[in-house]
Amino acid sequence: MERIFTKEIKNGEVVLKGWVSQIRDLGGLKFFLLRDREGIIQVTAKKDTNPELFDVISGLHREDCVEVKGTVKVSEKAPGGKEIMAKEINVINKAETPLPIETSDKIQSGFDKRFDFRFIDLRNRKVMNVFKIKQVMFSKLREFFEKNGFIEIQTPVIQAAGAEGGATLFPLIYYNKEAFLRQSPQLYKQILMASGMDRVYEIGQVFRAEKFHTRRHLSEYVSIDMEMAWIDSEDDVMKIAEGLVHYALKETKKTCKEELKELGIEMHVPELPFPRLTYDKALDMLSKEGIKIERGEDLEDAQERVLGEIMQRKGKEWYFIYKYPSRIKPFYIMMDGEVSRGMDLDYKGMEIASGGQREHRYDMVVKVMKQKGLDPHKFEFYLSAFRYGMPPHGGFGLGSERLIEQALGLDNVKETVLFPRTPERLVP
Ligand code: ATP
Ligand code: MG
Repeated sequence: MERIFTKEIKNGEVVLKGWVSQIRDLGGLKFFLLRDREGIIQVTAKKDTNPELFDVISGLHREDCVEVKGTVKVSEKAPGGKEIMAKEINVINKAETPLPIETSDKIQSGFDKRFDFRFIDLRNRKVMNVFKIKQVMFSKLREFFEKNGFIEIQTPVIQAAGAEGGATLFPLIYYNKEAFLRQSPQLYKQILMASGMDRVYEIGQVFRAEKFHTRRHLSEYVSIDMEMAWIDSEDDVMKIAEGLVHYALKETKKTCKEELKELGIEMHVPELPFPRLTYDKALDMLSKEGIKIERGEDLEDAQERVLGEIMQRKGKEWYFIYKYPSRIKPFYIMMDGEVSRGMDLDYKGMEIASGGQREHRYDMVVKVMKQKGLDPHKFEFYLSAFRYGMPPHGGFGLGSERLIEQALGLDNVKETVLFPRTPERLVP
């Protein structure tokens, strides 16, 4: 007989495989909860009808791997209204005792312990649900790109030059040269705008040697990047960004009803279009709350949070900030004098994406590079794409972990990664 998941149980004979999650002894009746990926079910044995199995259950420990053959019985007392009357219980592999961390519904261990034993941590359904929802979210993000004519690309992770500033680069030895892990696919996706691909997206790991410990920084994260050609302004990019997250949230909410319910999360699908705040307007709004920011400075996390609270009072979880001062945006963003065509997308007071219209004119890119203290010779491979017919273009990079963190109301981005990389965590 083929093994089925607990949620597929209907009636008759079944074979289940999973872990022992709780064991109960009521004298003449022994039972345990068997947990598999999709749920739990009670497995019962009676002393008078099945003395042998009765002994097997006595020898079980939590988190042993078992295979159970039995018949389905309707039972009001059992969780889910059904139980399995066991005919055969095979212990496939034993778990050591005591367990290094708890697997019950309440999360009792600290981050470090949990990540050391992530495989056990994931046996907690609440933890597992985060990753089920994440998988659906990724497939919906991809679906949106496919529906909107984007071509999926993969660009090199090993690079010769960084795009986002030297301080957060991870160096590595590439044969006999120094190279770096990419901080973003920025330069490559832009080069491809000169190829006629027109609309591209890439979902892949990027690396930042971030020094700080915050709720939103990882040393390795998955960036959702897109780039599109023939745009008129950064507004074309904002339309795709808002369309993308709107679609992903709407569809994920539909698909993951059960997981969200189990987590007690009400996921909000935002209205389109998202508010577009100029940088000046954002500063004014903060100033009214007593927070003064020097014009020309970037918003810090605490200030982003307050802006998020102001917007949430207006019923808005999502909003763009644009028309940033040119001096705080990277060299590849188009600048109209002091004001740039860069934009950020914020979600409940956290930056989720950065992007905008790019500079596509060769002379201008070189000029701004020099102004920002970069050596154009190191970027020849990138700059040459601007010399043979580069169309106007723009795009963004969106942090997938931050998106999930905020959508599920988690308090740290690490919750959304199976094996997080931080300044302290390299193993496992
Ligand atoms: P921040 O100022 O919040 O550190 P950033 O402006 O340096 O972010 P960008 O270079 O604009 O980041 O990257 C684009 C997006 O990638 C960000 O909006 C964010 O969602 C995500 N991101 C950036 N750095 C990290 C990180 N260290 N860990 C997780 N996600 C990140
Ligand atoms: Mg940014």
